[in-house]
Amino acid sequence: MNNYTLPPLGYSFDALEPYIDAKTMEIHYTKHHQAYVDNLCKALDQYPELYKKDLLSLLTNLNEVPEPIRVAVRNNGGGHINHSFFWLLLKKNGVGKPKGALLEALIKKFGSFDQFKEQFATAAKSRFGSGWAWLSFNSEGELQISSTENQDTPISKGWVPICGLDVWEHAYYLKYQNRRPDYIAAWWHVINWDFVEDTYQACLKKRQ
Ligand code: MN
Repeated sequence: MNNYTLPPLGYSFDALEPYIDAKTMEIHYTKHHQAYVDNLCKALDQYPELYKKDLLSLLTNLNEVPEPIRVAVRNNGGGHINHSFFWLLLKKNGVGKPKGALLEALIKKFGSFDQFKEQFATAAKSRFGSGWAWLSFNSEGELQISSTENQDTPISKGWVPICGLDVWEHAYYLKYQNRRPDYIAAWWHVINWDFVEDTYQACLKKRQ
């Protein structure tokens, strides 16, 4: 019945060195992400008809998920969708900066690319405990920075995440220990801005 599996990573565990180390990538992908997939299926196995719905609609309408598995779907479905997205956002030798319409929109919204980076980093640093920082396309069609706790996703608000950073300790502790700001600073070097731009363009298109 299980139709959720780990998506291919698309690069080797050491591709993002020295910014994100190979051991962290391996454990993050093969253990943490795998556990979200396994636990999501364990929950859905109790209500197999829910496999007919896609994960996006389950997470957008959590109140329609049967109460006994709602928290499990929220946490593990969120974990699966967030990590599947996160791997796509990373790239060896990232170009450091978006271009085109996304860069223009970021400058328009935040004043400059550096001010965007600063505000995003603040959201990532100040998320207490485990969670994520996000850049989303919100319901008004505006770019919006936010953060969520645990594996919650802006999707549940009807927003479309276009970039996001996992700030759970499992994402950085082996290399950075308690130095979350250092991990955030390093992450800018491995962002796949082409993918972020494509996601942004798809949002603009859908809104037309
Ligand atoms: Mn994670």
